Amino acid sequence: MADATEGPRFDWCHWHNGPSGTAVLIRIIEQGSGPGAALYACAPCREQRRLIPYSEQP
Ligand SMILES: [Zn+2]
Repeated sequence: MADATEGPRFDWCHWHNGPSGTAVLIRIIEQGSGPGAALYACAPCREQRRLIPYSEQP
């Protein structure tokens, strides 16, 4: 009875440091050990800072 295939997503904007419903992955920080950190930005922050979503970067 597992219905947790896709739970509610909680997106976080690392630029204004708050929750956001429009946050997308911007950058992945490679780290020497352990999993890399992922940075997300919401739509307003992307517009202000001219950030390009990770999936649209060359
Ligand atoms: Zn933001």
